[in-house]
Amino acid sequence: MAKIRVGINGYGTIGKRIADAVLKMPDMELIGVIKITPDYGAYIASMKGIPIYTIRDRLDAFKSRGFKVEGVLEDLLEDIDVLVDATPAGYGMKYLDSIYRRFMEEKGLKVVFQGGEKPEVAKKSFNAYCNAAEAYGAESLRVVSCNTTGLLRTICVLDKAFGVERVRATIVRRAADPKEDRRGPVNSIKLNPPKIPSHHAIDVKTVVPGIDVETAAVVVPTTLMHVHSVYMVLHREVSIDDIVEELSRWNRIMLIDAESTGIDSTAKLIEASRDLGRPRYDIPELIVWRDTIMARGRELWFIQAVHQESIVVPENMDAIRAVAKTDGYPEKSIELTDKILGLGRIFKLG
Ligand code: NAD
Repeated sequence: MAKIRVGINGYGTIGKRIADAVLKMPDMELIGVIKITPDYGAYIASMKGIPIYTIRDRLDAFKSRGFKVEGVLEDLLEDIDVLVDATPAGYGMKYLDSIYRRFMEEKGLKVVFQGGEKPEVAKKSFNAYCNAAEAYGAESLRVVSCNTTGLLRTICVLDKAFGVERVRATIVRRAADPKEDRRGPVNSIKLNPPKIPSHHAIDVKTVVPGIDVETAAVVVPTTLMHVHSVYMVLHREVSIDDIVEELSRWNRIMLIDAESTGIDSTAKLIEASRDLGRPRYDIPELIVWRDTIMARGRELWFIQAVHQESIVVPENMDAIRAVAKTDGYPEKSIELTDKILGLGRIFKLG
């Protein structure tokens, strides 16, 4: 079968990780990425052999710096089956109105957006463990943001196994990504937003509409990962062993034993990932600390951690195959993504 021809608009934190994952997938071909600045990111993309495209009014900037540019956004869109939009939040909607929609209507282009966009940007908001089957054949999808992806993984897995009646979660957010030297971190614990629920619960409902979920969120001065304290009421009584057994079945959820491994912080998770030689120390799996699982009757409580820069990468691979309508989707897609990205295997500890 022909490979899915993929283009990426926005080669930043998320876009460059999606590009690397697409390069690894045997059923995908990376046709090019859109860069708007001829900076080190463009140098690295060209060193990796990734074709660079830009937008019309940036052509001269690239040429004056000696970059080989294959064309502009419209040229890339002519030549691909699926575009992944990984531009800063809000830009995807502007691109949809100004350019993408025409290519979707006239050329059958499919588009995968990211979680910083409003839900209305796409036909459906997406998470592989929740609504993968329903996403098949959509002309556009929105892969929800990092915190929402983390929440959805445990909510949907536990809902399928035991039924989830209610979820209450507190989200401790990293202040900025490591590269964002203009944003902080600030020396404070800041309400984000200063109200309950935070937008994360609202976002979870874009994927699982009927769920009773509310969230509160604060920002703390770290760049490494987010941490969630998740409280649930299930439809039936469960033991800690039931929860451990269920969560262990899923490659994109990793149980870590804090006491026996000594990994009781996001810093140590990141250090372990570095020591394991994972690219960019990425952890696309949701981490659940096994020792934090408290089960009492139908009540469940645990603490989980989200690596914001990489958790959405596997979902983007599956979203690409959903809109491209690949054979055997979703099971084969999820299996292939996990195998190629090595999910759930090399980081198994405790
Ligand atoms: P980023 O700022 O790291 O990357 C965006 C890239 O797009 C940059 O390289 C920037 O130069 C480029 N860009 C800016 N304007 C552009 C334009 N007009 N056309 C094309 N490219 C343009 O942002 P990011 O963190 O990768 O976020 C991208 C999307 O992913 C957002 O919707 C965000 O909410 C979502 N997301 C981010 C994270 C995270 O933790 N960083 C996690 C999950 C989802």
